[in-house]
Amino acid sequence: MSQSQNHDENSLNQKKSNDGLDSNWRNDALDLDLDYGMQTIAVRAGQHRTDEGEHSEAIFTTSSYVYTSAADAAAHFNGEKTGNVYSRHTNPSVRTFERRLAALENGARAVATASGMGAILTMCLAYLKSGDHLLAANQLFGSSIGLFNNYMAKFGVEVSYVDCFDNDAWANAVQPNTKVIYCESPSNPLAQICDIGYLSQLCKANDILLVVDNCFATPALQRPLDLGADVVIHSATKYLDGQGRVLGGALVGSDELMQEAFTVVRSGGISMSPFNAWVFTKGLETLKLRMQAHCQNANQVAEFLVNHPNVSTVHFSGLSDHPAHELATRQHHMKGGYGAIMGFEVKPSASLDSKAAAWHVIDSTRMVSITNNLGDAKTTITHPATTTHFRLTAEARAEAGVKDGLIRLSVGLEDVDDIIKDLARGLDSL
Ligand SMILES: *Cc1c(COP(=O)(O)O)cnc(C)c1O
Repeated sequence: MSQSQNHDENSLNQKKSNDGLDSNWRNDALDLDLDYGMQTIAVRAGQHRTDEGEHSEAIFTTSSYVYTSAADAAAHFNGEKTGNVYSRHTNPSVRTFERRLAALENGARAVATASGMGAILTMCLAYLKSGDHLLAANQLFGSSIGLFNNYMAKFGVEVSYVDCFDNDAWANAVQPNTKVIYCESPSNPLAQICDIGYLSQLCKANDILLVVDNCFATPALQRPLDLGADVVIHSATKYLDGQGRVLGGALVGSDELMQEAFTVVRSGGISMSPFNAWVFTKGLETLKLRMQAHCQNANQVAEFLVNHPNVSTVHFSGLSDHPAHELATRQHHMKGGYGAIMGFEVKPSASLDSKAAAWHVIDSTRMVSITNNLGDAKTTITHPATTTHFRLTAEARAEAGVKDGLIRLSVGLEDVDDIIKDLARGLDSL
């Protein structure tokens, strides 16, 4: 498939949005029919400039909207007129973020949500019903697994898991009632890579929706819709903001699929706040520049770790001997971009078992933040077995590859020498 080629970042084939509000919208900042490059889109797409002529994007902190007359109000409700009614449904600041993200992901439309989990819940409510089968990767963000097992199962959705990198396992696990295939690439916390082009063919042959959580790659590295996915999920909380300030999420895809998602968000109140949307809109302006810098730092940190005698394994597809290195190189359109999240396993020492050795490395840092967040300008370090994956059973942890000596690192934008020095404090003194 041509989908496995490197993409030319400057030939985005943007699809026109059809989010139902064009009659009320002056999208005069950027005409997507002109073939703009990714960085131009990131800076300018989707802006709603008011009659005040403000240059920067405004924040619309309003819950409701006024009409010119009783008849005008009625026309907005009976569908004769399109336009804002209530901010649980639509809000100009939220729509600017949605339009900019949709353009960057090369999707027709985006729907913003209150958080990444809100987007995943919306996906479930929009595309699954009782009796359907959800086939997901074993390697997922912990709360996604919790949502699927505890709540989708409760509403009669059958859920099963396979290893995200095992194409045969995916094919063998498809059932007649499989409606959605769900994966992350790169995955959390071991940065494993799914073959999105392959999964797309499998889904098309079996009338299944392919949903890809693009949180770790972002559209700066990878556009799953171009690779054949139907829906992209984002936790905007991570790199789209990029500075760890606010929660948000989004879905991106065709008009038809997004209309279904939109009605779930509107009915269920999973809507994004206008302030958060504004933060994300401004975050998107620098996404590519930040991702380039994150990835460069991550490549150097991975080199340091892989050569350290007290590290047994580094999980990072940027390393040339990683089993998915070639796939990641094809799938990511940013040259040298493999993401900035990696796992590494610390060897036990004479006096410390693997867990104690991993804790020693974490506790020896003086600068890196000990926190479970990721995708931040600040480098963060986590011990998954006792935090993010603590609630899983020992077997589920083993299936996810979360060993006691494993550390997850989200490489930030500090000087890379300082990040390496901070990790070396604990690694050198084991
Ligand atoms: C954080 C995260 C989520 C959930 O997003 P929230 O904004 O925290 O709700 C989903 N998927 C991935 C891969 C994540 O890292």
